[in-house]
Amino acid sequence: MKEIITRFPPSPTGYLHVGGARTALFNWLYARKTGGKFVLRIEDTDLQRSTQASADAIFEALEWLEIKWDEGPFFQTKRFDIYLEYIRKLLDSGHAYYCDCSPEKVEEMRKKGMAAGGKAKYDGTCREKGLGKGENTVIRFKAPLSGTTVIEDAVKGNIVFQNADLDDFVIARSDGTPTYNFVVVVDDITMHISTIIRGDDHVSNTPKQILLYKALGAELPTFAHVPMVLGKDKSRLSKRHGAMSVTEYRKMGFLPDALINYLVRLGWSHGDQEFFTREELLEKFSLDHVGKSAGVFDPDKLLALNADHIKACDPEKLIPHLRPFLEELNIEADDRDYLIKVIRTLNARSKTLAEMAASAQFYYADTLTYDEKAAKKLLKPAVAEPLQLLIRELESLENFTEKDLEGAFVKVMEATGLKLGKIAQPVRVALTGKTASPGIFEVVEILGKEKVVKRLTDAVSYAMKQE
Ligand code: GLU
Repeated sequence: MKEIITRFPPSPTGYLHVGGARTALFNWLYARKTGGKFVLRIEDTDLQRSTQASADAIFEALEWLEIKWDEGPFFQTKRFDIYLEYIRKLLDSGHAYYCDCSPEKVEEMRKKGMAAGGKAKYDGTCREKGLGKGENTVIRFKAPLSGTTVIEDAVKGNIVFQNADLDDFVIARSDGTPTYNFVVVVDDITMHISTIIRGDDHVSNTPKQILLYKALGAELPTFAHVPMVLGKDKSRLSKRHGAMSVTEYRKMGFLPDALINYLVRLGWSHGDQEFFTREELLEKFSLDHVGKSAGVFDPDKLLALNADHIKACDPEKLIPHLRPFLEELNIEADDRDYLIKVIRTLNARSKTLAEMAASAQFYYADTLTYDEKAAKKLLKPAVAEPLQLLIRELESLENFTEKDLEGAFVKVMEATGLKLGKIAQPVRVALTGKTASPGIFEVVEILGKEKVVKRLTDAVSYAMKQE
């Protein structure tokens, strides 16, 4: 079988948005799955809108998603010699011709075509003139006038176009620069792309591209046009449906594996399975199960999936993802073993890494700031005594395991006649500053005797000062 070579060819006119990331993922997964190659190409021929900063942002986003390309990045602006060579080929073989019709004249032809109830087309005025290169000449492709062009699409099935509806489109402008559909085809041919998976907004370009392949005597790739991603209101995904760029999700504290999982599932399925690890996706992905209908982007579902991935992720592996969020809060977290214990108490309760870092703060704080309402309500003078008793019990413990801690709490309960909740809640505020936290024994065990005693002592002073 022929080697599968796929590509991702973003235009560097902005960040990598989630729709583009999904296209990249499909191509990457398909190449990996088949033992093929994945090529990255930067379509920067629109000089007005393309920037190096955008290209860099796209690389960074792909790297964060761990979508690794095997070849490239190739920049179209560096490949003009190749395009000129292929234009020459089409001119020499009679598949292209010079045209000196002014833009105004072409516009008139288009209007006429439409008025006659047909297509807005160039009417072929220069098709047989045999013009040479002139000052204002463009080069047009000599498209067939009759018959059909068929996309044998791997997702949508056959899509048939009447050649009579297509026109002799421009392949090189009067300044000599080649046009979009032409360079895409030359790139895909010379990069030996076997499979083109892209958004179905490109379907209308495909017949033109197929005709160019044929004129150049090149073998057609497999086309797979994937339905676009829609917002919840079924309109095309845009900013108002939530964050759009991959980098924004990174900054909000999403795991790359969660975003990947979510994006792939938006347009591909494997039974009714929702949660996939990267390895599972690589194992199970196939073009056969790419859906025909558009996926609807649901930020809440993505968030829930992120929580699932955080929970399922080995704490060791989570550390590099979590660290930037800790650093943002000035938490150094040098002690790896301590951090792993901290993560274990938070990974089932955090929807994002940002949330996890915020929840981890109390584990690292030198001095705790209490949630005001919680402290007012729960650190009253009456709790000073049980807290003092607890301090004494904890100080006398040799080991600080959950079981020993439970024993200490029981002793205080017995001595004071208070229920566990009546002791645990003030202790929680004393140790974490809040009324919600991981299990109290876990917290006590991780913080360790010294910190716990200090915090409880501080809480006693606070409580005594309250009315
Ligand atoms: N550069 C095009 C885009 O960003 C992709 C072209 C293609 O996949 O053929 O939409």
